[in-house]
Amino acid sequence: MEIKTDVLVIGSGIAGLFAAIKISEFADVVLITKKEKNESNTNYAQGGIASVIDPADTFEKHIKDTLIAGAGLCNEKMVEILVKEGPERIKDLMELGAQFTKKNGKLDLAKEGGHSMSRIVHAKDLTGREVERALINQVNENKNIKIFEDTIAIDLITEHNVQRLKNLPLNNRNCWGAYALNCHSNEILKISSKATVLATGGLGQVYTHTTNPKIATGDGYAMAYRAGAKIGNMEFIQFHPTAFYSSNQNNNSQAFLISEAVRGFGGILRTIDGNEFMSKYDSRKELAPRDIVARAIDNELKKRGEDFVYLDITHKNKNSIIDHFPNIYQHCLDQGIDISKEYIPVVPAAHYSCGGVVVDEFARTSLKGLYACGEVSMTGVHGANRLASNSLLEAVVFSQRAAIDIKNYLNNYRTSIPEIPNWDDSGTLTYDERILITHSSREVKQIMWDYVGIVRSNLRLERAANRIHNIYSETEELYKRTKIFEEILELRNITACAHMIIKSAQMRKESRGLNYTLDYPNPSPTNEFGDSILQNVNP
Ligand SMILES: Cc1cc2nc3c(=O)[nH]c(=O)nc-3n(C[C@H](O)[C@H](O)[C@H](O)COP(=O)(O)OP(=O)(O)OC[C@H]3O[C@@H](n4cnc5c(N)ncnc54)[C@H](O)[C@@H]3O)c2cc1C
Repeated sequence: MEIKTDVLVIGSGIAGLFAAIKISEFADVVLITKKEKNESNTNYAQGGIASVIDPADTFEKHIKDTLIAGAGLCNEKMVEILVKEGPERIKDLMELGAQFTKKNGKLDLAKEGGHSMSRIVHAKDLTGREVERALINQVNENKNIKIFEDTIAIDLITEHNVQRLKNLPLNNRNCWGAYALNCHSNEILKISSKATVLATGGLGQVYTHTTNPKIATGDGYAMAYRAGAKIGNMEFIQFHPTAFYSSNQNNNSQAFLISEAVRGFGGILRTIDGNEFMSKYDSRKELAPRDIVARAIDNELKKRGEDFVYLDITHKNKNSIIDHFPNIYQHCLDQGIDISKEYIPVVPAAHYSCGGVVVDEFARTSLKGLYACGEVSMTGVHGANRLASNSLLEAVVFSQRAAIDIKNYLNNYRTSIPEIPNWDDSGTLTYDERILITHSSREVKQIMWDYVGIVRSNLRLERAANRIHNIYSETEELYKRTKIFEEILELRNITACAHMIIKSAQMRKESRGLNYTLDYPNPSPTNEFGDSILQNVNP
């Protein structure tokens, strides 16, 4: 089946939905999404959206907090855009129906780690769900947006693979939409568009333990890389220190977040034999910053060869625990653990990717007509570490900017898109050995967890690179011989992301922000490494 549209949006998290709504004011939009509309990282965001709302707060303070978190690698111009346009975008979200928590008629602003002021707009502790609800309502009623659920983008359609114009300079190539798989009929759709917005979210599923849902297999990063777009700073993966550990976790299940507030409440981290260990690492113990706590846990696990540590709040009053953490209490109880009497098994988990598809201030990638918004993009606002609650903000600010630019782009569009070839799967076979895919996928996650996680070293990276290279070749081989299905696409994408993360980590011979390596334990004083940029020169 062939679909033609002005703009194709891939993804229905906050970035894709917001972009689609804004673009629909002047163009027809086709929005495809991998699962049901609301299944996204956005849907699980708890804390909220950072923005300068309080009259006592200033743009300068929010900018400063963001730059400090970014450890010398933020793009200051982009941070300024992010912060200064934030309040307008919060207003937009409210006009689109998002109901944020208010106190005395005003937005209730929370404070989070790294923020010098209270500036987190939230909807209790279910902010993402509320934003998704409001935006999906809008999209459902919008006649200019056609949504296709259970439809996975396979690869971008680019000029060089349509016309075999291999010699065109990479930065001058057009993107004309995407091929996508309808997961019900197994039909491959050919969607041609003048502009394409990649809003496919993060890549937590590259790791064994992640707070990200199943959809987060890094499809956007991998598709853009294969198409020859520039990708940057992939080594900066943020790990949340405490996610619930379950021994019967599936291959791609999502770990439940045990909020930092539990440590703030007096929770003590203990090894399996019951000994407290944070005092060995930092005088602030459990209240040290996220990356320090995650590294300390990782070190204990690696040293002891164990799979989890415990978080202990059994010394606290039961009613007070239930009052403060009703969701966490209930979730753990459902898993057979009464946290007022028993320790909680926890493990750090991949949470957020600061790098991604390199974009400019209008979310334009290095391919003509291809835009990237939200977690999949690298705007430069996070640098080497993300300030809490800046990611939802980044998604709305730069989706709006993409829409502004796409309007101009379409107005001046003079190219005639050639006939796009149909998907060619002649000679491929239906694959009935799914165990090989499941196994390879588990292997990728475990390699990344063990060697390219919170603490890295030259040796670990080299070992990971060799292992991933083999799986990459096997998977590409299989992909060429096989009729497409969801799991092989996802394996192909997590493997490509693993490759990019390792490559970028190998390029950065320093410890900075979220990239910590035993061989270079300090940041380079001259900041000589700048951004680590990858580009597939033979797409
Ligand atoms: C547990 C948790 C808590 C968080 N809390 C906060 C917070 O409080 N504040 C904050 O700012 N950030 C938070 N974050 C981060 C934030 O939620 C994400 O960075 C943000 O939601 C990303 O939005 P997005 O639109 O870019 O991607 P997503 O919301 O992940 O949406 C991606 C969309 O793309 C679709 N998709 C993916 N691949 C394909 C494909 N191949 N074809 C078609 N569709 C595809 C998915 O199905 C999904 O619809 C949290 C994240 C997690 C996991």
